[in-house]
Amino acid sequence: MAGLDIDQVTKRFGEHTAVDRLSLEINPGEFVALLGPSGCGKTTMLRMLAGFETIDEGTIQLANRTLASADTHVPPEQRNMAMVFQSYALWPHMNVADNVGYPLKLRGLRGPAYHQAVQKALALVELGAYAERTPQVLSGGQRQRVALARCLVSDPSVVLLDEPLANLDRHLRATMENSFRDFHQRTGATLVYVTHDQSEAMALADKIAVMKAGKLLQWGTPEALYRQPRTTWVAGFIGQGSQLKVAAGRPGEQLDGTRLMCGLNAVEAERTQSVLVRPEHIQTSMQPSGHHQLTAKVENVIFRGERYELNLRLPNGETLLTYHYVAPTLGSQVGVSLQQGWCLEPDQ
Ligand code: ATP
Repeated sequence: MAGLDIDQVTKRFGEHTAVDRLSLEINPGEFVALLGPSGCGKTTMLRMLAGFETIDEGTIQLANRTLASADTHVPPEQRNMAMVFQSYALWPHMNVADNVGYPLKLRGLRGPAYHQAVQKALALVELGAYAERTPQVLSGGQRQRVALARCLVSDPSVVLLDEPLANLDRHLRATMENSFRDFHQRTGATLVYVTHDQSEAMALADKIAVMKAGKLLQWGTPEALYRQPRTTWVAGFIGQGSQLKVAAGRPGEQLDGTRLMCGLNAVEAERTQSVLVRPEHIQTSMQPSGHHQLTAKVENVIFRGERYELNLRLPNGETLLTYHYVAPTLGSQVGVSLQQGWCLEPDQ
């Protein structure tokens, strides 16, 4: 079965290029996140998929059917896609069941088939018992689940989600992440999910498209983006870590602890390669000894519950982020060993 194929898609608003030759091949049933900072073009890309925006160049195909190109524009209602908005967009004067059934009523469905479809969609988001209530008496998370049920009821091939958790508090976001995972497993729909929150994207998606200034910077699984980010910018955007300048390696190469240390000890002029060192690849000891490669000064300590986050200063002036289960004294010296680092391309 063919999936959703986005090929060299460009969108301009006057002089501004909001999406710049973006290509993605999304498999059927995949959960995909479009991730990037505010203004990078993710919502514009989603709106072009939905058919709310035309495209200037490139093509969008679903199951080998062209939905959009410079001279084709299939209207939203003929794309077999459904969109869930940040604001839920529920009708306040209708109860939950009527809100969910609204797209079916528009298509003229009535009677037992209508009621069965509404019950099935409500069951998928575990809101069967709330059918008669009005949206006003529901929590933010429940309202978002009603919006999900409403988009599911028409059995779309693709569900488009525009920052669906942005209006919810932190605790509810975590609960809703589970609801989205469940929703995806139960429906098997292809999901395209827009977010600027990297931890949300990492927790939910099978694959993530990292965007910046309208361009796709990297496309891969959460693990690949975390372990092998391509550029310095992607490395800074995904997860935590330190970027050091070393005289070793080349972009896309992994350095072991020995090469990393050799490269770090070189004279400054030769240290031109940026290397990402994740906190879990640093061993820190409160008592510096000859076993450690380096000593570093503790500049900041943040309590994170299960561990402390330490900001360290190396003798060559570079900073290092690491974790430890006890809090060292501010200003003290600790022993540090670096186990591995990942070589990055400079940001374009
Ligand atoms: P956010 O997370 O803030 O929603 P985004 O990554 O979704 O950001 P878009 O909303 O896609 O970004 O906007 C991309 C760029 O295109 C922005 O610079 C925005 O100002 C511009 N833009 C979006 N829609 C229009 C429009 N209808 N007319 C003119 N410019 C627009």
